[in-house]
Amino acid sequence: MFITFEGIDGCGKSTQARLLFELLNKEGGAVLTREPGGWEGGGTLRDIVLSGDLRHPWSELFLFMLDRTEHAARVIGPAISEGRHVVCERYHDSTLAYQVWGRGMPFEPLRDMAKLAALPEPDVTLFFKIKPALALSRVGKRGKPDSFEREGLAFMEKIDRGYRSLAEMEPRRWAVIECGDRNPAEIFAQVKDVLAERGLP
Ligand code: C5P
Repeated sequence: MFITFEGIDGCGKSTQARLLFELLNKEGGAVLTREPGGWEGGGTLRDIVLSGDLRHPWSELFLFMLDRTEHAARVIGPAISEGRHVVCERYHDSTLAYQVWGRGMPFEPLRDMAKLAALPEPDVTLFFKIKPALALSRVGKRGKPDSFEREGLAFMEKIDRGYRSLAEMEPRRWAVIECGDRNPAEIFAQVKDVLAERGLP
């Protein structure tokens, strides 16, 4: 099972991804990974893309795509072929939310890149929905925001709209987790319910 975690910065998806990984990994063999940078060598790409120092808007897009295609080839694809559960924080939908809704790049060509590159398709995508102002206040508390996190509320609101639209377009794949200001255990209970409704894991 390939499960992706999506949401704006500060929505709490890392905590939830770890909880799900621990549940799925009780008997071993599950994989917890993330983008950007979730493969050997990916750290350098992550540093470049998060530096905020790229001058051409497409450079950012190409770096995220390069990161993803290598990540898929080295980590996600092999794990799926071996029948392992893969829990992945951010995937191609991050590119659609951030680069299309956030940066104003064209939707259809970017959406189609996933198919052109034959990227594995997630079985389920969980969207951790939270008020952008609340998420940003959490990001502020964890210190050292990256270049995207520094873009501020208006940017995060665009990304939030992007995720909502994406979830509406493909309701069979997407599940919306209403985070509100609930604690991680309450949110994880909803994650388990949503997965169980889909016959997972
Ligand atoms: O989730 P994480 O903090 O690891 O993501 C790194 C940063 O990259 C985030 O600030 C996120 O907003 C940004 N990002 C992006 N476009 C993507 C994926 C991530 O702008 N396609």
